[in-house]
Formats: sequence, C-alpha cells, structure tokens
Amino acid sequence: VKEEGRNGYRFFTSEMQAHSARALALSNALKQAVHRGELHLVYQPQVLLRDGSVVGAEALLRWTHPQWGFVSPAEFIPLAEANGLIVPIGEWVLHTALCQLRAWLDAGLPMMTMAVNLSAVQFAQPGLPDMVGRMLAQTGVPPEGLELELTEAVAMKEPEIAAQKMQELRAQGIRLSIDDFGTGYSSLSYLKRFKINKLKIDQSFVRDISTDPDDQAIATAIVQMARSLGMSTIAEGVETAEQLAFLHARGCDEVQGYHFSRPLLPALFDSFVRDNLEQ
Ligand code: C2E
Ligand code: CA
Ligand code: CA
Ligand code: CA
Repeated sequence: VKEEGRNGYRFFTSEMQAHSARALALSNALKQAVHRGELHLVYQPQVLLRDGSVVGAEALLRWTHPQWGFVSPAEFIPLAEANGLIVPIGEWVLHTALCQLRAWLDAGLPMMTMAVNLSAVQFAQPGLPDMVGRMLAQTGVPPEGLELELTEAVAMKEPEIAAQKMQELRAQGIRLSIDDFGTGYSSLSYLKRFKINKLKIDQSFVRDISTDPDDQAIATAIVQMARSLGMSTIAEGVETAEQLAFLHARGCDEVQGYHFSRPLLPALFDSFVRDNLEQ
C-alpha cells in the first residue's frame, strides 16, 4: 500500500495540479477575452434534406488566446459556466450571431434560422426571455429567425420554471430545439409540456448509423416520435453519404455535418449558400 500507493498518488496529484493550473489560467484569461476581441463565431450550414437547401446556421464559438492559441469550446465553455462568465459571453454570442443573420439577409441571402447554443446557466437567468427579446429588437431579426439550442439538462432542475420560461420564449415567436437529444437522462414527458420545435439527434447516434442496428433503431425512433408530437428533426455530425442516405430514408428533416461543410467564417458561409443556390 505504502510504496505503490504513494507513487500512484504522487502521479495523480501532479496531473491534477497541471490540469487545474491550466483550468485556472484559462478561467482567468477568459475574463478579458470578450473585450480583447479574442472570441469569434463560425457558422455551420443546416441543410433541408427534402431539397438540399440551406435553411439555417449554427453559431459556434471560437477562442484564440494570444499565447495558448486555439482553445476548444469543449474545454472553455464548462469553465465559463463554472465562473459565471457564460452569461456575458452568451449575450455577446447572441448579439453577434443575430447581427450576422441581419447582415446576410440585408445582403440578399434567403431567410434562414440562426441556431444559438444556450447553456443551462444562461437559461436559468431570470431575465433571459426579456434579454433575448431586446436583442431581437436591437438587431431587427424577426423572432422566427432565432432558434435556441437547449440541452435536456435545462429541463431537469426545475421543470415548472423551465416550462414557464420556454412558454415565454415561444410566445415571442422564438424557436426552440433540444440539442444532443437522447444523451441526457431526463424524462420524455417534458416534450409534451414544453413547446419544442425540433429535436437534434446527437452525433453519438449518427456516427455508426450505417452499420449499427442499435443506433439505427434509436435514430428511427427519435424521428418517428418527433413527427407524431409535431416536431421536426435534425441530425448532427453527418460525415458520409451513407449516413445521409439512411437519415433521408427514415424521414429526418435536416442534417448538419462535415459531409456538407465544416463550421465556416462569415464570408465563406455566404459563398456556400450562394453556390448552393446556383446548383
Ligand atoms: P454542440 O452544440 O453539440 O456542437 C456540435 C459540435 O460538433 C461542434 O463542435 C461542431 O464543430 C462539431 N461538428 C460539426 N459537424 C461535425 C461532423 O460532421 N463531425 C464531427 N466529428 N464533429 C462535427 P465545437 O464547435 O467544438 O463545439 C463543441 C461544443 O461546445 C458544442 O457542442 C456546444 O456544446 C459548445 N458550444 C460551442 N459554441 C457555444 C456557444 O456559443 N455557447 C454555448 N453555451 N456552448 C457552445
Ligand atoms: Ca448545438
Ligand atoms: Ca449537439
Ligand atoms: Ca453533441
């Protein structure tokens, strides 16, 4: 116990220290990221399977730190949620994404929805529906142009408050989708009570969908359930023609993934949509 245990322990703590030192440094650096202009958004096309048109964009956050370079949102979003910075950062994301949609519409791109990720911490803010309403008014984007991507986690903590808030957002005309659908542990009953527009089939079910019968069954069930409850479906992480063909055959409405495009800088997204229109 003594010898091995101590070695094991020492190794473990130094790894943990290295990890938490980076986390602490990132967490602190994030405070300056917005006003130092270190954040930007990229946009991934969302394609309607029926006719191949681009009907939406998902805004995805990027952080390039002057010393550390690119930091993945999978690493810094949880830190921003823990230290509360996700609230101002999230407002910046919403404002920037809506300004971008306004600019694209003004430049003649067809109407589409801008999907913005909302963390559970942001959703829990009492003034959220008002804040979102103000942003829409400020940027001149019609409410149907905004889709908020929520995870199942937002519905779990305080279902009554969550239901009320979703109702307030829906009453303004804003669209709601459930991100990473099927990976949470919440009860499905919330789907009936919350007026959700769309279910986003998680990447983990899409990855092996052309070969794995379990994933095929899950994706098929999600599409059928969504349809019978009056919701639409979008599959994320679609990388191959085989995955696309399966989802198409099962009646999934929209797809998003590297098969069509990686998340793009605004000018490239604009060209992607225009090229797509010409085809
Ligand atoms: P998510 O919302 O599930 O976003 C999908 C992730 O899959 C994105 O990673 C996207 O770049 C990636 N992806 C898209 N197509 C493909 C594909 O075909 N194959 C594979 N392997 N991956 C694909 P990203 O941009 O690194 O974002 C990671 C997560 O960080 C997001 O997962 C989301 O939870 C969070 N995130 C990103 N931006 C924001 C934001 O503005 N606010 C909040 N609250 N969270 C954000
Ligand atoms: Ca998302
Ligand atoms: Ca997702
Ligand atoms: Ca995901």
